[in-house]
Amino acid sequence: MTPGREGIEGTMDEQNVIDIDMKGAPACGRCFMLVARYAPQVVASSGTYHRECFEAWYFGRYRKRPRLIAGAHGDRHRFQVRETEDLAA
Ligand SMILES: [Zn+2]
Repeated sequence: MTPGREGIEGTMDEQNVIDIDMKGAPACGRCFMLVARYAPQVVASSGTYHRECFEAWYFGRYRKRPRLIAGAHGDRHRFQVRETEDLAA
């Protein structure tokens, strides 16, 4: 049997939780807006980014487009990047 959620909800402070489908959505590491669950996004070791934000940031830093691999975590709209430069450090 899995325990219920009563214990969790009772102890948390009241917050103005955004009551749309953004619960648990990560903030983009570049523009700091939430990344919607089904938005094209890049999951990097440093965080989650909108795909457009990541490409712009990456291009500005490395002067080349990132190698994005679709299908991260089984979701087609999620991308992982080959961070060869970072890993080589
Ligand atoms: Zn963004």
